[in-house]
Amino acid sequence: MITQEQVDRILRLGGNGLPLVSLYLPVDPDHSGRRTYRSRLDSLLDRIRPLADDDSLEHPVRLSLRDDLAKIERRLGEEPRRAGTVAVFSCSGDGVYEEVWLPRGTHERVVVDADPYVRPMLAVLDESYRTCAVVVDKGTAQIWEYHLDEVRELEAVRDRVLRRPDHAAGPAEDRVRDKADEVSKRHYRRLVGELKRLFREGGFDLLAIGGHPHEVPAFIDFLTRDLHDRLVGRFTVDRDTVTATDIRDRVRGLVADRAYQEQERLVGEILEAVATKHHATVGLDDTLWAGSLAAIRTLAVDTDAVAPGVVCDRDGLLAAAGVSCPLCSDALREVPDVIDELVKTVIEDGGEVRHIEVESDLRTHLTGALLRFELPPHPIGME
Ligand SMILES: [Zn+2]
Repeated sequence: MITQEQVDRILRLGGNGLPLVSLYLPVDPDHSGRRTYRSRLDSLLDRIRPLADDDSLEHPVRLSLRDDLAKIERRLGEEPRRAGTVAVFSCSGDGVYEEVWLPRGTHERVVVDADPYVRPMLAVLDESYRTCAVVVDKGTAQIWEYHLDEVRELEAVRDRVLRRPDHAAGPAEDRVRDKADEVSKRHYRRLVGELKRLFREGGFDLLAIGGHPHEVPAFIDFLTRDLHDRLVGRFTVDRDTVTATDIRDRVRGLVADRAYQEQERLVGEILEAVATKHHATVGLDDTLWAGSLAAIRTLAVDTDAVAPGVVCDRDGLLAAAGVSCPLCSDALREVPDVIDELVKTVIEDGGEVRHIEVESDLRTHLTGALLRFELPPHPIGME
């Protein structure tokens, strides 16, 4: 499973003068995807093979690329059995080889560039809330962690349960029921205490509560306000037969719905702010200019958008096109996807990046952003 340390390491790769190969190969073991895995890998590598034999490139560059091709072919030769995407970042001349597993499919892609191509990887991580899933009834609870489409059971809680005896009736029955209510309330309170501890220590983003539809609401009433704020939804499962796969499927659906809602909300917020001219922008040119000035607080990018462009290696200027930098007049470097450069720039500048998968008004604009300050006009020659 991909870790934050790996991501941080990958984001720091590049910039040593040798090309870095980034490759994304989706795997779908249930369909024809698995049968075509090997041929899809070969055809991706074929796209960059000519570079390794290009005499106009320096010898160390060609050598590094040749080693990258051989290594990726060797390492990825085995067909994976799990659905997702395998991503590789390789620069053999610099001793770099990072292979990560992403828990969902991305577009097939191979990029050779000075920097790693990270957008598909970040898009997957962006939607991966760490979620605490609890299956609860009157006397027990199972606590699970869901992250990057994997689940693991953290702990089980078992408290005393009082059942109503069959022969009890009248006042005796009432007393037993009151006592049973008292016992289950104690169980719920204890469970809430445990969840508070887990959220404090476990870095969870969201909470999902599952169980019998008659019992789940009773427990939700006991949640403290801070836990209630994290509640992403409830799900119905049978506590006695529930499996890890059941939990994963239920929580995946809740989390995906939440992600889509938040994406729609962000796009709406950006468009509204643009309409009222309040610290926001849409469209590639203006968003790149904002990124060049470290003005972006929150960047929204359409997850499928790709646009070639140029960057200035001296001051980080980003633009859709141009020959020399309007800020420092250095020659601009062409890049295969300037939106990927923008994403990295925003992360480095401490802004947040949201990948928009839902069909929204952002699709025609490609990118948009909430800004830290109003943008000065474009420099001459960039309008
Ligand atoms: Zn410049």
